[in-house]
This record gives sequence, C-alpha cells and structure tokens, in this order.
Amino acid sequence: MTAQVWAVANQKGGVGKTTTVVNVAASLVHLGKKVLIVDLDPQGNATTGSGVNKTSIKHGVYGVLLCEAEVHEAVSHSKTGAYDVLGANRALAGAEVELVQEIAREMRLKNALAQVADQYDYILIDCPPTLTLLTLNGLVAADKVLVPMVCEYYSLEGISDLVATVRKIRMAINPKLAIGGVVRTMFDKRSLLAQEVSEQLTEHFGKELFETVIPRNVRLAEAPSHGMPALMYDPKARGTLAYLDLAQELLARAEA
Ligand code: ADP
Ligand code: MG
Repeated sequence: MTAQVWAVANQKGGVGKTTTVVNVAASLVHLGKKVLIVDLDPQGNATTGSGVNKTSIKHGVYGVLLCEAEVHEAVSHSKTGAYDVLGANRALAGAEVELVQEIAREMRLKNALAQVADQYDYILIDCPPTLTLLTLNGLVAADKVLVPMVCEYYSLEGISDLVATVRKIRMAINPKLAIGGVVRTMFDKRSLLAQEVSEQLTEHFGKELFETVIPRNVRLAEAPSHGMPALMYDPKARGTLAYLDLAQELLARAEA
C-alpha cells in the first residue's frame, strides 16, 4: 500500500478542522483502513482529542520536522481511535522560527512521511489556522486538501487565499496537489442563512462539495474532553454517523 495523504486546511480557526481529522480517522479505521494523523497545530488538539498525552511526546511532529527523529520513533498510538498519531507538543510553536534557516524547510514533512507511506492507507494532516511554514509543510506533503467550512456570512472570504496557495504549491513543488473536497460542518438546517450559504457553496464548488453535511451536534464537542473520537464516545450520535458517511464518501473519491 501507499498512503494517500489528505491535509485538512482552512485558515479560519474554529471551523471543524480538528474535529474532522479525528472523526474521519476513526471512521476510516472502522472501515478497515490503517490511518496516521499528523498534528501540525501547536495547540495539539488532535493529539489530546485522540487520547494521547501531549507531555508524554518525546519527538512528535516537531522532532520529525527538525530532523531529530524518524517518523517511526516519533509516533504515538491512539488507543481510543486505533490509529497512529504524529503528535504536537508546545515545542512545535517554535518550529516555525527554527525551520526558517533550515535546508529544504518546506519539504521536511513530505520527505519524512515517504518513509512510512507503505504502512498506512491514509494519512490525515491537521493544519493550523494560518498559511505559514507549518501549513506549507502540510500542503507540500499532501495529495489532496480537505476544506471544512461553516455556512456563515464570511465563510467564502479568505478561501481564495487557500485556493491560491494550493495553486502555487501545485505549480512550484507538488504537481499532484488538488482540492479533494469541501465539507460543510456544524450545519444547522433550521438556519436560513446556513441554507443560503450552503447554496452559494454548491454554486462555487460544484462537485468538490461533499454531499455529506456534518450537523452541529454536542456529542462531537464533548468527545475530545474524554480523549476519544465520537465513534467511541457515542457511536449512535448524529455527528458520529455523519462522519462515517463523510469517510465513506472520501473513500469513494480517493479510490475512484
Ligand atoms: P478548528 O480545528 O478548525 O479550529 P475544531 O474542530 O477545534 O475547529 O472545532 C471548534 C469547536 O467547535 C470545538 O470546540 C469543537 O468541539 C466544536 N465542534 C466542531 N465541530 C462541531 C459540530 N459538528 N458540532 C458541534 N460542535 C462542533
Ligand atoms: Mg484545530
């Protein structure tokens, strides 16, 4: 096998990137896939949300980016999610600065992941809400970008920066990079505004928009405080089932 790498990115915070990474990962495992999460956000929410203690991380993604460790030495196992995690700890916040003077600074993650590509079916990268060097490493390492979006007034604003960055990376370093899909998150179907914005997204993104819509569901927000994906916390919750549908849709696209 050769892992397909999906970077989950949107330079807005709080749009459901981390929730999507953790729950799609657990769903893909449920569907029989071997999965690695790469937590590129110094806040480390995907790490703790997977039940991995940030303070227990020796190298994590930081060690890999700084070439202090290889991926196999740096991964943790999520007992609750049954996938592996290349975790983030506080040191990662410094990586942005430390990387600036390093050689091939934007290729570090891509080169490192190549060593373990035969061990996973899917690698999901949780990007921070910025378009700086960490996210750049994520996008350079990726085959596809998954963009979570909340259907709010300003949703489309700023997305053009991400789309432009994806285009630049495709032209400069990573010719296969493409938007793999846009997913509506935290959706409230009773909200007229949400419905209107949802229609705009359909017009704007067409087939790139996933059919699956992730509802606003409190179980998705509660699960991380128990260090587990919603699939383990409440397998029947609406949010859990929606992420299973999304994972299935993602598989259909990825394997098409
Ligand atoms: P990001 O990684 O883009 O900053 P998060 O995934 O951390 O976004 O989500 C932001 C907040 O919203 C978190 O507290 C999370 O638990 C909550 N959340 C995410 N998705 C949902 C959802 N579908 N329903 C309810 N709460 C959600
Ligand atoms: Mg996040």
